[in-house]
Amino acid sequence: MFQTAVLASGSKGNAILVRTKSAKILIDVGLSGKQVFAAMEALHLDTQRIDGIILSHEHSDHLRGCGILCRKLKIPLYASYDTYCVAQHKIGKLPVGVQHFKHGCDFTIKDIVIHPFASSHDAVDSSNFTLQNGGEKRLGVITDTGFVTNLLELKTRDCTTLILESNHDDDLLMNGPYPWHLKQRIRGRLGHLSNLQAVGLISKVIHPQLKNLILAHLSEVNNTPEVAAETMRGFLDTIRHNARLIIAGQYKPTEIIDI
Ligand SMILES: [Zn+2]
Ligand SMILES: [Zn+2]
Repeated sequence: MFQTAVLASGSKGNAILVRTKSAKILIDVGLSGKQVFAAMEALHLDTQRIDGIILSHEHSDHLRGCGILCRKLKIPLYASYDTYCVAQHKIGKLPVGVQHFKHGCDFTIKDIVIHPFASSHDAVDSSNFTLQNGGEKRLGVITDTGFVTNLLELKTRDCTTLILESNHDDDLLMNGPYPWHLKQRIRGRLGHLSNLQAVGLISKVIHPQLKNLILAHLSEVNNTPEVAAETMRGFLDTIRHNARLIIAGQYKPTEIIDI
């Protein structure tokens, strides 16, 4: 068993669950503890057994509930040293401490091997991840990154399931209500991937074994699930690829997905 569910995704809070037969972990907790438990209960998951929380970067939509949940469940937090240093005052005291990971160095939580690498984002040491549980299956978790780097292409090449940022539609963003500096931040190389940038990455790394493509971190202002899905579906149809396309939402968890 190697499965994932996006419990929530977007600027109001992110949390991703990954589980195997013996491990259950969360990547980011940008929701309240209550919201995370509610999302897990909706999927009939045992909320009391979580083995650890991995923090991708210090923005509050990824961080908000990390400390609370670590204290409540007495579990470790996994964060890079720099991320932990800037986030420490918001995380608070941790009951079993923090494990530091480094980009490019694998670490394990029970039977899950996690490979962190740098994303391009306006945070101190922002991370994307690939995860494996033995065998060929590989999950990629790619959000909060501003452009498609060679590194990103390399890391996502063999994923069988990909959680991929599809943050904004360029027209909706540019014609939308955000002030200019914010539009520039989102579009910039340290911002977020657009629908078209997501397609650009997929066009380079897609392979027959890509089973599930989960679009994530959609903006509620500068995107819609329909526009994001249409943009990616249009591409997948052109190349006649039958990957399952799933849109992660802010208010409702995805189903549990076999990686
Ligand atoms: Zn974010
Ligand atoms: Zn961020």
